[in-house]
Amino acid sequence: MYFTDHTTVFHNGEWLHVSEIKADLYSQTMHYGLGAFEGMRAYKTPLGTQIFRANEHYRRLLASCEMMGIKCDYSVEDLVAYSYELLNKNNLKNAYIRPLAYMDANMALRSASSANLFICAWEWGPLLGEKLLKVMSSSFQRPNPRSLHVEAKVSGHYVNSILAANEAKANGYDEALLTDMNGNVAQGPGANFFFEKDGVLYTAPRGHILPGITRATIMELARDLDIRVREEFFKTEDVEGADAAFFTGTAAEVIGFESLNGIKFKKPWDTTHGYTLRHAYKSLVLSAEAHIIDVV
Ligand code: PMP
Repeated sequence: MYFTDHTTVFHNGEWLHVSEIKADLYSQTMHYGLGAFEGMRAYKTPLGTQIFRANEHYRRLLASCEMMGIKCDYSVEDLVAYSYELLNKNNLKNAYIRPLAYMDANMALRSASSANLFICAWEWGPLLGEKLLKVMSSSFQRPNPRSLHVEAKVSGHYVNSILAANEAKANGYDEALLTDMNGNVAQGPGANFFFEKDGVLYTAPRGHILPGITRATIMELARDLDIRVREEFFKTEDVEGADAAFFTGTAAEVIGFESLNGIKFKKPWDTTHGYTLRHAYKSLVLSAEAHIIDVV
């Protein structure tokens, strides 16, 4: 699913056939989860295939590397150029792009001096599908920001996401909603969270969340559409039975909730701000303008 017999990937400055890539089982990323990655989407637009907010994603990758002591000596401009070249070489138009900075063999508990950069891409549908989600409050909380750099997109952090998603699936739900260490609602395993009450959207402030690029885009679109968004802390009880809710993320895009913990949201999805924003987001990523304003 992620590659075919003809897939080309980027690895440390070279273009290789995917079969030439060898994983190092002694890698510090394998053993301890020290690695940084990104996920971005390319869309076919009237200007040709464009990667949505590519500069922002690569800035976040370099920031994640910096926070984690991972050496990644590439400029945002070069990384963006490689990504377009990757799409070209693989003849991909609508695609998901995954850069990963991973470590060499190192069993010490200090960041190894050198990192490798791998970039691959594949065609990928919406991460959480297209149907409204039945979500459960997770018994797993987001990591304590004093334990990890929660704003960095680090491989090892995703063990927390996997635990929460597994638990939700095992209990017959589609997805999980995690609280932070203080019991405030934070986000999903791989997406940010908004809910609607009395015409206002609420989302968790920065501090315990991964501040998503889609979340920021949705807040900009909401501003343009005169939809009020408040970044503040709230509890599960505030969300249960509210008017509506949705997740945002590059892979998931904007996807609505049917229920939280079996309690349905009040408004029909197609009458909500989430629905309006889902469509505004789709038109934005598919338009030419979105990409012109994304400057380094
Ligand atoms: N939170 C987590 C944990 C994620 O993995 C993602 C996806 N990168 C998001 C939020 C959403 O971020 P973005 O909108 O930048 O894709």
